[in-house]
Amino acid sequence: MTSKQVRVRFAPSPTGFLHIGGARTALYNWLFARANGGKFILRVEDTDRTRFVPEALEDIMTSLRWLGLDWDEGPDCGGDFGPYYQSQRLPYYQQYAEQLVREGKAYYCFCTPERLQEVRAKQEAAKAATFGYDRHCRDLDPATVERLKAEGRPYVIRFKMPLTGTTVVQDALRGELSFDNSTLDDHVLLKSDGFPTYHLANTVDDHLMQITHVMRADEWIPSTPRHVLQYQAFGWEPPVFAHLPVLLSPDGKGKLSKRHGATSVREYREQGYLPEALNNFLLLLGWHPADDQEVFRIEEAAKLFSLDRINTSPVAFQTDKLAWFNGLYIRELPAEDLARRCLPYLQKAELLPDPCPPERLAYLNRLMPLVRERIKLLPEITDWVDFFLQEEIPVPPVELLLPKKTTPDEVRRLLAAAYDTLKELAPFTEVVLEEALRGLAEQLNVKTGQLFMPIRVAVTGRTATPGLFDTLVLLGKDRVLCRLKAAEESLTV
Ligand code: GLU
Repeated sequence: MTSKQVRVRFAPSPTGFLHIGGARTALYNWLFARANGGKFILRVEDTDRTRFVPEALEDIMTSLRWLGLDWDEGPDCGGDFGPYYQSQRLPYYQQYAEQLVREGKAYYCFCTPERLQEVRAKQEAAKAATFGYDRHCRDLDPATVERLKAEGRPYVIRFKMPLTGTTVVQDALRGELSFDNSTLDDHVLLKSDGFPTYHLANTVDDHLMQITHVMRADEWIPSTPRHVLQYQAFGWEPPVFAHLPVLLSPDGKGKLSKRHGATSVREYREQGYLPEALNNFLLLLGWHPADDQEVFRIEEAAKLFSLDRINTSPVAFQTDKLAWFNGLYIRELPAEDLARRCLPYLQKAELLPDPCPPERLAYLNRLMPLVRERIKLLPEITDWVDFFLQEEIPVPPVELLLPKKTTPDEVRRLLAAAYDTLKELAPFTEVVLEEALRGLAEQLNVKTGQLFMPIRVAVTGRTATPGLFDTLVLLGKDRVLCRLKAAEESLTV
């Protein structure tokens, strides 16, 4: 391990919304930087113009911020190693590609797309063991190169791959990975439009930005020998590589994909997951602590995180576990915080106005202790508090009002008795209400459930609600009496 300051980067290509796997990569890099007093850098790998999606970067940055993964250097805040958009760094890539050509480690290739297609078609027909460029231009004599360039023929710059030998990649998690050089073709470094390929831009920038550790998805393993060989060609020290384990679908069969549900951070946010829960969940998708502790806030994880506790075996994305974490973090939120996070969903359901006046927000805060045990996802809040936020509710259907084996008339009489009892009550508090309603059940000679359920349904329109007495208090006497009366009348024949 190097004694230099740790510098790690998250290097997304802005080709789509931040993927959940990308979020894990970002999280691990962030945690590693924070655990080591290092820097976390956001670099935008936007050199593939054909796959560029304009709104992707905005989404990636918003999602990272939402997760609390702040960066020390990046496209918006700058830093000493900028620019942080690869599309703004073209002169560097051109300069380094030309350097390799001058040193005989790379070469100009003038092959046309048509010729490359033919080569590929032939390889396919012959069921060749390895595909790739046939090295047609690798040994062009300098005079020919000069002539073709002078003619203005388009060219790319290709890496001169060693034809024999093996390249060893040191992976901090997987140990030594060996690659037979003869299986690697002469990949393109610089395209004919002057843009670099991923291989060139990635290594040049990791070097220039003094990146010490590269933590990235395992899908980049096949690219890594190419990168190692480029570092050797330039005479640069490579960073430490650590390839993270593959994410599998919830059933453990096959890679995680759209078929298994949401794959972007944005979707999880919209579905009402908390960033705290997502971070905790992603942390354990590949990293394990020394004991069997499961609940880690990001601040705590940032103290403990180390490479040697990252696993290499594929890991299944268990959505039910994520939901479990979400319920847990929801229960731990202070009321005001939970109310603030629920507010957008309540506004969307038109249960609260936007902007929300302070007195209504204060009321919402008071509801939170009653419901926080019951919701796993934030949007579920609407079903638990709608009857609190509405002045009037529709009269509940008769089937809901009648417990089993009761007649409308019996229930009507219970509701009328409850109305009369509650009307006289003061103060309208839990203790007073409980005493009065239990007393009433006794007096009417019915089980408490027989009396409480119709009251609950009458005032909330639902059979599952927070505790009855809390609910009545928070609804307030006027609304309770009004709803009892309406339900009672609905049962009158
Ligand atoms: N731009 C690459 C990606 O989108 C970066 C891979 C790497 O970290 O080297 O994943």
